[in-house]
Amino acid sequence: MTAGFSEEAAAISDEIAELRHAIHAEPEIGLDLPKTQHKVLSALAGLPLEISTGQTLSSVTAVLRGGKPGKTVLLRGDMDALPVDERTGLPFASVTSGAMHACGHDLHTSMLAGAARLLSARQADLPGNVIFMFQPGEEGNGGARLMIEEGVLDAAGDRPVAAFTLHVSSGLLPLGIAASKAGPAMAAADTLHVTVRGRGGHGAQPHHASDPIPVACEIVTALQAMVTRRFDVFEPVVVTVGTFHAGTTDNVIPDDAAFVATVRTFSPQSRDLVKAASVQLVKQLAAAHGLTADAEFVDGYPVTANDQVEFGFAAKTIGEVFGEHRFITAPNPLTGSEDFSYVLEQVPGVFIMVGACPPDSDAATAPFNHSAEAVFDDGVLADGAALYAELAHRRLAASS
Ligand SMILES: [Zn+2]
Ligand SMILES: [Zn+2]
Repeated sequence: MTAGFSEEAAAISDEIAELRHAIHAEPEIGLDLPKTQHKVLSALAGLPLEISTGQTLSSVTAVLRGGKPGKTVLLRGDMDALPVDERTGLPFASVTSGAMHACGHDLHTSMLAGAARLLSARQADLPGNVIFMFQPGEEGNGGARLMIEEGVLDAAGDRPVAAFTLHVSSGLLPLGIAASKAGPAMAAADTLHVTVRGRGGHGAQPHHASDPIPVACEIVTALQAMVTRRFDVFEPVVVTVGTFHAGTTDNVIPDDAAFVATVRTFSPQSRDLVKAASVQLVKQLAAAHGLTADAEFVDGYPVTANDQVEFGFAAKTIGEVFGEHRFITAPNPLTGSEDFSYVLEQVPGVFIMVGACPPDSDAATAPFNHSAEAVFDDGVLADGAALYAELAHRRLAASS
């Protein structure tokens, strides 16, 4: 086996940090990230890559064809920021008000560009191809799904045998500690929209109206009973009603009451059941009171499910390259969601969290991802780039 990438990664760590700082200072939100795309293309310029850009989003797909025959592996880094006003006070803080790289995607992008440089330098003895997937629109826009529709999985000709992504966290994990698990790693996140339809009237004469408010309240409570009675206690389901709106004043019964819930599940089976059971419950509970209700279940990101075998490979790789102490098998999935899930529906792979908490902060209390005060430490950049490169190189070597 050839030597690892850690030394070469350390040698380009300034370059990776420079790219990260430039992207961080000019964050862009959503699917259209022209400045970020330009920075990525500049960073990849001169490398022996086949580069294409997206049609419906400002993605960058780069393919490195190894000098030896072999399979294909995909590495993904997301590039988008969040609508947050940054309060970190960092010298390279966002200059764009209302936008911040509060989820650390600036680190993913620069680490992936670093990995492209590291692997390009080993092109001659690379046994197969690597697809570098630079993806906009992770935060709610489903950019990964759009890139799949535009052909990222077929960019090298044959489908990848494995796919990997890293995600930094500003808290939770100490600097440089990686964590992942086999099976579900993050939740499916769907939305339930409910409108209970009654008939308005005078607040003092409820018998002449059909009051939607107590019925909607009963449905909200019944949804919690549904979670505890219809789902295996060892397979968590979260239903949180985040908005509830009805009425205008105390003495008027409104025509309707509406609420929206986020629904988190960890398997396709639970997801299907919660979809059917919640809609049934809403409609029939309204009917029990002589009212009607609209219930619409809107699909968000699916469960992020790590492949058992690829998880074992990734855990072993991290242990061998950085030491056993640098990897933790996560005891539970996270209840957040990720659109890398769309890639993992088609390609076996792994989503890996990497601690980027500043060394002088306590990971247990440091502001977490999406906070205006979340700080991600540059100390993770070289190892992150090396890890991307190791995963690709070793995975190709293992299947050649
Ligand atoms: Zn995020
Ligand atoms: Zn993120």
